[in-house]
Amino acid sequence: MDYQTHEHDVLVIGAGGAGLRAAIEASAGGVSVGLVCKSLLGKAHTVMAEGGIAAALANVDDRDSWEVHFADTMRGGQYVNNWRMAELHAKEAPDRVRELEAWGAMFDRTADGRILQRNFGGHRYPRLAHVGDRTGLEMIRTLQDHGIHRGIDVHMECTIVRLLTAGGRVVGAFGYERERGRFKVFKARAVVLATGGVGRAFKITSNSWEYTGDGHTLAYETGADLMDMEFVQFHPTGMVWPPSVRGILVTEGVRGEGGVLKNSNGRRFMFDDIPEAYRTQTADNEEEGWRYTQGDKNARRPPELLTRDHVSRCIVREIKSGRGSPHGGVYLDISWISARLSNAAEHIKKKLPSMYHQFKQLADIDITKEPMEVGPTTHYIMGGVRVDADTQMSTVPGLFAAGECAAGINGANRLGGNSLSDLLVFGKRAGEHAAKFARECPGGAAEASQIEEAARLALEPFERGGSAEGPYQVQYALQELMQDLVGIVRNEQEMQRALEALGPLRERAQRVGVAGHREYNPAWHAALDLHNLLTVSEGITRSAIERKESRGGHFREDYPDKDAAWGRMNIIVRKGRDGRMEVSRVSIPEMPEELKRVVEAMK
Ligand SMILES: Cc1cc2nc3c(=O)[nH]c(=O)nc-3n(C[C@H](O)[C@H](O)[C@H](O)COP(=O)(O)OP(=O)(O)OC[C@H]3O[C@@H](n4cnc5c(N)ncnc54)[C@H](O)[C@@H]3O)c2cc1C
Repeated sequence: MDYQTHEHDVLVIGAGGAGLRAAIEASAGGVSVGLVCKSLLGKAHTVMAEGGIAAALANVDDRDSWEVHFADTMRGGQYVNNWRMAELHAKEAPDRVRELEAWGAMFDRTADGRILQRNFGGHRYPRLAHVGDRTGLEMIRTLQDHGIHRGIDVHMECTIVRLLTAGGRVVGAFGYERERGRFKVFKARAVVLATGGVGRAFKITSNSWEYTGDGHTLAYETGADLMDMEFVQFHPTGMVWPPSVRGILVTEGVRGEGGVLKNSNGRRFMFDDIPEAYRTQTADNEEEGWRYTQGDKNARRPPELLTRDHVSRCIVREIKSGRGSPHGGVYLDISWISARLSNAAEHIKKKLPSMYHQFKQLADIDITKEPMEVGPTTHYIMGGVRVDADTQMSTVPGLFAAGECAAGINGANRLGGNSLSDLLVFGKRAGEHAAKFARECPGGAAEASQIEEAARLALEPFERGGSAEGPYQVQYALQELMQDLVGIVRNEQEMQRALEALGPLRERAQRVGVAGHREYNPAWHAALDLHNLLTVSEGITRSAIERKESRGGHFREDYPDKDAAWGRMNIIVRKGRDGRMEVSRVSIPEMPEELKRVVEAMK
């Protein structure tokens, strides 16, 4: 079997915010670093992030602190978060943002020149450092500029399909080049997974083609635990029209800047359903909500800025009750602020330039003059590789994970802005500890049979050829299935049906064939992605069946309430000895007294 071999102390798989930050830190730890990504450098999902990075800098409201950020994150995650990760995240995010600034990130500024921060759902104070609505672009640009000067070897357009192991630890990875289809073997002493999310398992998603759950599956196949897979975040506001752009994100920043949600009767329906846990923090009239978005410290946030799980369900309720917009969404209106601000159109274009262009170009809507039509879209997965909070090492030695593909910090629901800060805080930690592991634990070598097996499996779709069923039919069927039966509102019966349907879909996936050759063959790539999509879909479905309550992103109409007993539990899936997926529960460790006091004080 023909392949190229590369050797690095630390191999980072994924070049989004988490991967880049991990690579920078590992390199600073004095080891050689390789960075692999499926697309071109700079194209990772992180580049799409719009609203901002959550960090308690307290530049706009000096009442903010790590304690408030920690309490907000735990409340948002409905207390099944890994509290140690939430603590580290809240404490370290401000330093990571300042570091990004020192490396050249051009944040929007307060009048006195500090990093400006904006309001976002579930954050008590304005907390999101941002660059208009293009924060992810600035973050990636800055990390790349910084990273390329550190001697990191970048392998672009290379997809990893298998991790290599020896003696119970990870020692490398096997992948293929997208351009030529040639195989590559990476030898490494430590591997960091930073592969992002799983959105492409669903039909309507804000995620791009790359997000097929690869890191989740690579870890699972190596024996690592996945945790919290039932917690998928459906962002309340994706585009619903025209069909070709359905699912594309409409940033929460629109609501942070004063945008309001209305049904077809013109009613601001979010005032009709304010959860008890948020009642004291939420405005009870429109005037107060507006003042909050304009920085009045004595005002409480409008109900449009409640957590994403809740806002999504309210939107679904309006649509199902026949009060939706013509294309099956509801209305999101920022144009109404012209009644309050004399320069509203310029203000909107300045604060939300991408949103303005997105709607103008894709839907021929001028958001400074008319409302948008929006509806929920699969956006993020809180679940992922189970990691140690301090080091980010998974349950398999030498395998680390950071960013969206790791679990823990967000619990049952992620607050907007907490992902970008997660990438920086835990990307750094993963890189640091992977480098330490690589320095202290000399690696072994994988048996040749692992590489041969991986190559054989990768080439199988060609043997079956173009006359077999193609991968896209199976992909579409899976996406429909997950959207319809394991989506925003779930129940036992439908999820059991989904589970039963996954078996035949897996069989079909094993029989798909592709025509042509290995050079830039998207059908071949889609065929190889199917195993990952099916694995994460099974993990989501089994975990969602297991959790018999509703919490955060996981809502069950047959168990609509939270159950305190489940609030002390995380759900784990792992590959059993017989190759089948096993589901188990683990108790969440008791929170230390000082953190309990912080949570209580902020209630
Ligand atoms: C439209 C949009 C807006 C958002 N806005 C915000 C926001 O304002 N604030 C916020 O906090 N969060 C936001 N998010 C969420 C946030 O952007 C993501 O959660 C985050 O960027 C994920 O970063 P990551 O580093 O974990 O992975 P990603 O940035 O997703 O990068 C994953 C990397 O892994 C690579 N990869 C994947 N599989 C393989 C493989 N098999 N082999 C090799 N490489 C592989 C990819 O090529 C890519 O380089 C937004 C998300 C979207 C979609």
